[in-house]
Amino acid sequence: MTEHAVLGRYAFFGEKILPLAEAKVSITAHAFNYGTAVFEGIRGYHAGGEIYLFRLAEHYRRMEQSASLLRIKLPLPVKELCELTKELVRRNGFQQDVYVRPIAFKSSPTIKLCLNKLEDEFALYVIPLGDYVATDRGLAVCTSSWRRTNDTAIPARAKITGSYVNSALAASEADENGFDEAILLNEDGHVSEGSGMNLFLLRRGRLITTPVTANILEGITRETVIEIAAKELGLETQEREIDRSELYFADEIFFCGTGAQIASVGSVDRKQIGDGGIGPVTSRLQKIYQKITHGQDPNYYHWLSPVYSSQTVEAGNQETGVRIER
Ligand code: PMP
Repeated sequence: MTEHAVLGRYAFFGEKILPLAEAKVSITAHAFNYGTAVFEGIRGYHAGGEIYLFRLAEHYRRMEQSASLLRIKLPLPVKELCELTKELVRRNGFQQDVYVRPIAFKSSPTIKLCLNKLEDEFALYVIPLGDYVATDRGLAVCTSSWRRTNDTAIPARAKITGSYVNSALAASEADENGFDEAILLNEDGHVSEGSGMNLFLLRRGRLITTPVTANILEGITRETVIEIAAKELGLETQEREIDRSELYFADEIFFCGTGAQIASVGSVDRKQIGDGGIGPVTSRLQKIYQKITHGQDPNYYHWLSPVYSSQTVEAGNQETGVRIER
């Protein structure tokens, strides 16, 4: 199969939907030279012939924030970006789980660094995507020798392409040393997050995650986990700094993110966590998350944007202002 067949047939680029192969960026583009783009990753889950995009509007709201830091203006308001995304996924016609990648970038052909007065571009593409990391076993994870980029350098709460060099270095080092993933520490030695995912641990019955001031991306799955742990398991999450050594003594650890979903950590720096597999709380959260994302829990329909269907579901989607259609 050619790469383009794998990547889907249509993209949105240059203000229109066009064959993916025609969506090309110049080597002179500011973003290509300096990493001045912002992006999102959105999952679409295939169930019963439908594809449900998960928390679509929240992703675009975060993208607006990231874009404002880089002085990028998105071409459409959030509601219309949601509609456009649904249309593009529909046009690609996938009957499997997908991942949607919107990216907004500085396209001007200039070697000057200043972001002001540069042209902006926006593109959107869809790819099929299964697991990003294994979710059916405990991952072997290391703490990285690389430190997380600080808010004073490149804020991690903005999803900026250039800052993913930090994540890429950590993920590559982990891979070369035989690990599945990396946990990055901040300069002060406290835990930040994984290379492309947030982190939770369970210790003495308490669910704990790093605070939004720990140079993390403020994950939408993180928010989701905090909410479903409280509502479905009666478990409140403590948001506080986490020491590296607390990782070693945790009863359970899991990563969460759009790509990672909910993925158990079986060991950290070769020290086993729990029985090294998937802990009971992690396992319950995985099942709840799976149900919600696949349109099987009416209490959470408001998080889903179905792309194919045409009949309206009672609850509607208050987040996007778009009626849920099936
Ligand atoms: N941290 C980083 C660095 C990420 O790239 C991601 C993936 N977007 C996350 C956390 C998880 O964020 P979300 O749950 O919004 O996908």
